[in-house]
Amino acid sequence: MGSHVPGGSPGAVGIVGAGTMGAGIALVCARRGRRVYLQDIKPEVLDAAQAYIDSILTKDVAKGRISEEEKRKTHDLVEPVQDMAALSSCPIVIEAVPEKLELKRSVFARLTKLCGSDALLLSNTSSLSITELAAGLPHPDRIIGFHFFNPAPVMPLVEVIRGHKSGEACVAAARRFAEELGKVPVLAEDSPGFIVNRVARPYYNEALRIMGDRMARPEQIDRIMKLAGGFKMGPFELQDLIGLDVNLATTESVYTRFYHESRFKPSRLQQRMVQAGSLGRKTGEGFYPYDQ
Ligand code: NAD
Repeated sequence: MGSHVPGGSPGAVGIVGAGTMGAGIALVCARRGRRVYLQDIKPEVLDAAQAYIDSILTKDVAKGRISEEEKRKTHDLVEPVQDMAALSSCPIVIEAVPEKLELKRSVFARLTKLCGSDALLLSNTSSLSITELAAGLPHPDRIIGFHFFNPAPVMPLVEVIRGHKSGEACVAAARRFAEELGKVPVLAEDSPGFIVNRVARPYYNEALRIMGDRMARPEQIDRIMKLAGGFKMGPFELQDLIGLDVNLATTESVYTRFYHESRFKPSRLQQRMVQAGSLGRKTGEGFYPYDQ
């Protein structure tokens, strides 16, 4: 560990993975004036991320929240890159690749070689163990969970997750960074699903069971949860927004890590929809149809 506080010097933020979450997180950072290197292996994803950022900023201008000049400045702060080497000088890197342990571990292994030994390495994982992500890597103290919620530019919460070897100074730096981004950090211990997804898994599962038992249709369950529960979106609308594949991967991960406790058991119906490619908004069809 270097002598200064990890991630403490303001500098560029690297983001690995420019999908739903990476694109949103890039906008959050750019809005706060941070330069962002947004990396993905797929050029079409980088194009889509830029188009997404542009569309949100265009709406901000239309609503009088920012000027054309501010839009251009914020837009230009995000640099799309395909090579992870572009992130080597970043004091903070946020990983947002799919929810697969080995994939994430390979990203962190690469980052620990590329970045300075005092760079703060954050994972947007929804459910995987930060301890497992960091195991065997040099300086595991600077690998911290940093879990945004979808859509990242709107949702105020960030779970800051302390792994077994996470350093206190790094956890504190991650919390300060979340505050700098205008978010509310909540410290969570490294338990499957952390806090929010541990509560959310049985919520989605039970909604799927009610549907499977033909007690109510998705639109009825969504309407009831919005009317009675005060939720902004019902469980099926949310799954379509999150992506059924992303949602299923999180449920499978929590189920496996809780030693197959039945309350977390994934739904076969959801599994079938993922196999069919009905992933929600991003594919134009999930529990609801969407105009692409
Ligand atoms: P996504 O599939 O939309 O995006 C992931 C991106 O990572 C893809 O664009 C893919 O091309 C890219 N990628 C894959 N391998 C890569 C590599 N080796 N290097 C660089 N890029 C690579 O997924 P998402 O919904 O953005 O989820 C990303 C992470 O965030 C997951 O861990 C997920 O659990 C978590 N998360 C998702 C949500 C949500 O609602 N979607 C909410 C909170 C957290």
